Amino acid sequence: MRKTIIVSNRLPVKITRKNGEIVLTPSEGGLATGLGSVYREGNNVWIGWPGQEVTDVMEQTELKTELAKLNLLPVYLTAEEINQFYEGFSNEILWPIFHYMSTYARYEQSYWDFYIRVNEKFKEAILAVAEPGDVIWVQDYQLLLLPGMLRADLPDASIGFFQHIPFPSYELFRLIPWRVELLNGILGADLIGFHTFDDARHFIGSCVRLLAYHASANTITVNDRSVMVETFPMGIDNRKFESLSSTAGVQNQVQVLAKRFQDIRIILSIDRLDYSKGILQRLQGFDLFLQNNPWAIEKVGLAMIIVPSRDTVPRYKELRDQIDQLVGNINARYRTMGWSPIHYFYRSFPLEILAALYNLADICLVTPMRDGMNLVAKEYVASRIHNNGVLILSEMAGASKELIDAIVVNPNDANAIAAAIDEALEMSLPEQQHRMKSMRQIVAKFNVHHWVKLFMATLDDVKKTQQSML
Ligand code: UDP
Repeated sequence: MRKTIIVSNRLPVKITRKNGEIVLTPSEGGLATGLGSVYREGNNVWIGWPGQEVTDVMEQTELKTELAKLNLLPVYLTAEEINQFYEGFSNEILWPIFHYMSTYARYEQSYWDFYIRVNEKFKEAILAVAEPGDVIWVQDYQLLLLPGMLRADLPDASIGFFQHIPFPSYELFRLIPWRVELLNGILGADLIGFHTFDDARHFIGSCVRLLAYHASANTITVNDRSVMVETFPMGIDNRKFESLSSTAGVQNQVQVLAKRFQDIRIILSIDRLDYSKGILQRLQGFDLFLQNNPWAIEKVGLAMIIVPSRDTVPRYKELRDQIDQLVGNINARYRTMGWSPIHYFYRSFPLEILAALYNLADICLVTPMRDGMNLVAKEYVASRIHNNGVLILSEMAGASKELIDAIVVNPNDANAIAAAIDEALEMSLPEQQHRMKSMRQIVAKFNVHHWVKLFMATLDDVKKTQQSML
């Protein structure tokens, strides 16, 4: 029976040890939820790095056996591979370039050597289980070479690729010394998916300009093989957030928080620590809002959650220090004896607390400099079961292409952020409901299950069309 092989850098599981026993906790992330209906079925499998360095061969075998029970297959990476392939090439070259922060990129030859090596390691893991007729779906920017490597060994395979982060304009992409190899790697796929039309257009533009391939609409011809480039904006598990909103646990939490904040209107912001998220600019916008609107003193508060991420890396530590400083500065200038403008948390929270905050917040302020999609924006919308509340959303987030009833801002424009906060606070309830309702419909319709089904069905169609043209 033909099977589906999902491949991503990380397996959707957290590994811990309790009294020497391996404990596997399935991840609750959006991608894991969406693909759960696929990889858990029959003999389908998800291949990826288990998220930990495991050097002992006995331990590797033991973990592999445990993971197999969940239809997961590990690719073990050494500390140096993780450092050079993941921290290095993926996060110090691809991440900054693809998020338009080109000056942050460090083009190290060894990063590239390891990127090839690790992509090959993934290929070997796939070849060990792949059979004719299988569908292979590769996820994200850590594995750009993999579709091409697979195509060389499995010329007839059905291969899909989806990129979860933006694809930059040609002028940015061309900066990468290994740009041609990267494009050829991606083009090994039959179907290449991005979140937005612009990402797809940028990718096609780079293929035409760097490889001189012929592209007609969204199809690129690669050695007589038609490769389709399509837009699949990823959704969330909207039902999960909707139902969480009405559970007793979450409602209790909302009551506790509401009591704590009394009559203060809450603006919520949630991000991973990353320079692509526009956190400093957002704080500047909030500062300006307070400056322009003295009435907001003791009436409005910003609840800001930053989830720790890579803060041993100098660039991230520096950003964290700058955020600490700016938050301290704003709080010191505006606070009163009983009120502070910013409640800043540098930690992650359990889902129930996030759900309570999504429920409580009058406004969700999401202003990344660049973001492939931004799931926080969609989670806020899905949680608003009474259709009130206002989303302020950066035009640089993929989600802004779908959530057009948000107040859309340029994240570099502190004045625009300040004005948007004011507008959101002033917005009448019918207007809030009108906008939120239409955004909720979009989030509900184009949920993560729809995303998975559509991608798989399109890959199937592309393959059939290719075969009919032989
Ligand atoms: N999130 C979380 N714990 C937290 C805060 C956030 O698990 O304490 C989740 C949040 O619910 C969302 C994800 O982290 O699903 C962030 O996704 P997004 O697309 O907004 O940004 P990314 O971090 O993927 O760039």
